[in-house]
Amino acid sequence: MPDALRLSPAQLSSIIEHARAQAPEEACGILAGDVNGNVGRVFLMENIEHSPNFYMLDSREQFQVFDTMEAEGLELVAIFHSHPHSEAVPSARDMELAFYPDSLYLIISLAGSEPESHAYSIVDGEVREVDIVLVND
Ligand SMILES: [Zn+2]
Repeated sequence: MPDALRLSPAQLSSIIEHARAQAPEEACGILAGDVNGNVGRVFLMENIEHSPNFYMLDSREQFQVFDTMEAEGLELVAIFHSHPHSEAVPSARDMELAFYPDSLYLIISLAGSEPESHAYSIVDGEVREVDIVLVND
């Protein structure tokens, strides 16, 4: 698993814009790239729960994204979702539903006056925060 999530300011902005557009529902998606955590593509996806407290990727959309990633030689770097009105820390359910031990989990909080982003590894219920490194395009 990458030791940090590395993405450009433009990529992070597109994720935050997606989160704002879906609020008050949680927003979600997939970040694809290389094994060092460099994000090459951002997939903004649908939260099929349409809930302010939960998210679930659409499995059909997820298969399409995985197909695209395979065709482009991209790895799963992170799964992201937003917390429209709570802190950017994983909920108990987020930990239960962290099915990809090699993936990072990015959470965007819109609870404060400015959006906050934190990234984690979640393996067997154990949560560890990892750095988010902003890199130039
Ligand atoms: Zn959550």
